[in-house]
Amino acid sequence: MTGAALIGGGLSRGMGQPAYGSSRNETEAWTEDIPVTAEADVVVIGGGPGGFGAAMRAARMGAKTNLIDKYDVPGGVHTTGLQGAYNPGVGGVHTELMNRLTKEGYVYTATEKAYPDFAGNPLSHYDWNLKPGSPLSRSTFNPEGGGCVMLAMLQEAGVKVFYNTTFLDVMMKKLPKGAATIRAAVVKNVSGTQAIKGKVFVDGSGTAEVAARAGAPFVRGGGGQPSTVVTGGENRPLPGGLLWIMAGIDFDEVAHYQKNQNDPILTKLISAALAAGDIPSDLYRPRLSGACVYGNLYIGHPTLDMSPMQGPGTFIFWENVPYEWSLHIDDNPGDMMRAQVAMREFVNAEARFLKKYTPGFKNAFVTNVGHYLGVRDGRHPVGEYVFSLDDARSGRRFPDAVTKPMSKSFHWDCGKVRTFEVPYRCFLPQKVDNLLLTGASLSFAYDTIFMVMRNFPWCVQTGEIAGFAAARSVAQGIPPTQYKWAAPLF
Ligand SMILES: Cc1cc2nc3c(=O)[nH]c(=O)nc-3n(C[C@H](O)[C@H](O)[C@H](O)COP(=O)(O)OP(=O)(O)OC[C@H]3O[C@@H](n4cnc5c(N)ncnc54)[C@H](O)[C@@H]3O)c2cc1C
Repeated sequence: MTGAALIGGGLSRGMGQPAYGSSRNETEAWTEDIPVTAEADVVVIGGGPGGFGAAMRAARMGAKTNLIDKYDVPGGVHTTGLQGAYNPGVGGVHTELMNRLTKEGYVYTATEKAYPDFAGNPLSHYDWNLKPGSPLSRSTFNPEGGGCVMLAMLQEAGVKVFYNTTFLDVMMKKLPKGAATIRAAVVKNVSGTQAIKGKVFVDGSGTAEVAARAGAPFVRGGGGQPSTVVTGGENRPLPGGLLWIMAGIDFDEVAHYQKNQNDPILTKLISAALAAGDIPSDLYRPRLSGACVYGNLYIGHPTLDMSPMQGPGTFIFWENVPYEWSLHIDDNPGDMMRAQVAMREFVNAEARFLKKYTPGFKNAFVTNVGHYLGVRDGRHPVGEYVFSLDDARSGRRFPDAVTKPMSKSFHWDCGKVRTFEVPYRCFLPQKVDNLLLTGASLSFAYDTIFMVMRNFPWCVQTGEIAGFAAARSVAQGIPPTQYKWAAPLF
């Protein structure tokens, strides 16, 4: 760090996290002088699908772009988190990425030929509601290879990347009327705590961490959910999950057992393992009653939950935090530790159970466990516009629409397909003039962001939209709040 300039502190660390509001705590200030180790036009924090799309687009538009990620590879939930869901390209960088993954041999499609009993199987994560025996086409990309490809694409686009670098906080400058601007991101890596200055910042953290640190208002995970659906459900976040992969599985043998023993969700085997004290009682849980997300459409995946991935005999498994534990894994370290420890224990217990009790698993082995527990329902920034389920239902049109009308099915709307637009204002947090939101950190109400609006393709697209607005703002010498969104980008 020799020769690095120093930037003064005097700005808050913002550790407290209220249920609603912003996280800045004006009593905790950065008092030390911090070396400035980099300076860019656009600084993207978090290299998941959103941050990746943002950095790619901003750099290609000529903005000097830095990307910060706490892990050693980009891709977020979809690489370090192992969620290699493949979707046909939706345009732009997402299509490029999908084509490149295919060309480089990282995409695998499981069909009914390889897995005749998988469509409609109650153990299937995605395909349980298909008609048994119907066509199956489940494509995934290899998350390890996928991360390498994303890393290469960022290099080729000229993005300067800081891997193994954790974002800690922001340095702010106050503006009139209670607003503020971010001067620098405070980060930490092997060379210590340092500042990276920028003109425009993009929050690609997946949990609106940058917006919260900068003092933008947000609703905490679970905030706004109807308390009537499940007792105590208010402010209870939808559960996060740890994904892991096992290879060497003979699924024909599993299906043969399910049929012959009339044991569709392995209840008999689970009961035997429970009686022998071989698995914790919370590992497999009864489904909650209710409709849509709270009912059989989503919540908790409390049974054995798997999907073919990467290659023959290899499956990804979901380990979900019990919803009833009501843990805020994005902003409460105690909750996060409890969940992380419990989910690793669940992985271990489930792998042992499968090998010991379940036909088809004799030669199976664990190949990967996600680097971290993925957050499904973290902070929801309250931006210049908060997109609501009503906007989707009514097909509301906006003068600053970022894409042409899109059609998506909404889980909270019991899977109904709605055609709608999203305004640029959902990318703008309140009170901070040079920060753009993206990916799972957009200003959306909890019942719209969940599942549909935070899927991989959409996150890469919203990343590009943020990257586009960032580069244009830099070129015009204005903050993104003053940038006039002219026409849909996609
Ligand atoms: C368990 C689970 C299963 C899912 N299943 C699917 C699915 O099947 N299909 C689908 O399309 N979507 C799925 N999703 C949703 C989707 O993965 C996310 O919505 C999407 O990844 C969000 O993208 P993002 O870029 O906003 O954030 P993330 O993917 O969360 O990426 C955030 C990035 O920021 C980095 N970061 C975070 N904090 C810091 C920090 N302090 N310092 C430095 N770097 C930081 C992380 O390392 C990461 O790279 C799932 C999500 C979860 C949690």
